[in-house]
Amino acid sequence: MGLPMVHFNAPVLREKGVPITTFDDALAKLTEDMVETMHAAGGIGLAAQQIGRALQVCVIDLSQSQRDFTWELDGAKAPLELIMPMVLVNPAITVLPGDDTRYEEGCLSFPEIHGDVERPDVIQVSFQDLAGIRHTLVCDGLFSRCIQHEVDHLNGILFIDRMSKKVRQSIDDEVKALAKRTREASKD
Ligand code: ZN
Repeated sequence: MGLPMVHFNAPVLREKGVPITTFDDALAKLTEDMVETMHAAGGIGLAAQQIGRALQVCVIDLSQSQRDFTWELDGAKAPLELIMPMVLVNPAITVLPGDDTRYEEGCLSFPEIHGDVERPDVIQVSFQDLAGIRHTLVCDGLFSRCIQHEVDHLNGILFIDRMSKKVRQSIDDEVKALAKRTREASKD
């Protein structure tokens, strides 16, 4: 089932997600719906806040993306087709040594708004799967960037917060117009 997408500046996007402690059918169904919603919107990542739930869970799918990245899941290079779409429950990121990279990001909560964001390239993320089993993923490139963007959502942080002043300023009119549309839609 597709879920309604929450747009900026709905208050839930600024809420820190509550940790997941119950790994049940309801969680499986929620993340299944999140994956469907992400695919329907043509996105590569979706956080619970974006469908109106302040929880520590996000989904990503990079199976259709250009594979200019590397990854290791629990110490092995698992085929991407086997691990995508990926559900990350209670994820926590550690930045590993490497350069920062700059890349133009978009966000399903900011339709048609894009801007360059600088982020660390290499990360390690520990997370749980739908059964509550812990995993460790090391990745770089778009894989890493996508996870950093989603985990930010889980902590109430948005990509516009990570932009340089200059980039943020260049999209300010669009961001304000979106906030206005969201505000007006919430009154209906
Ligand atoms: Zn986003």
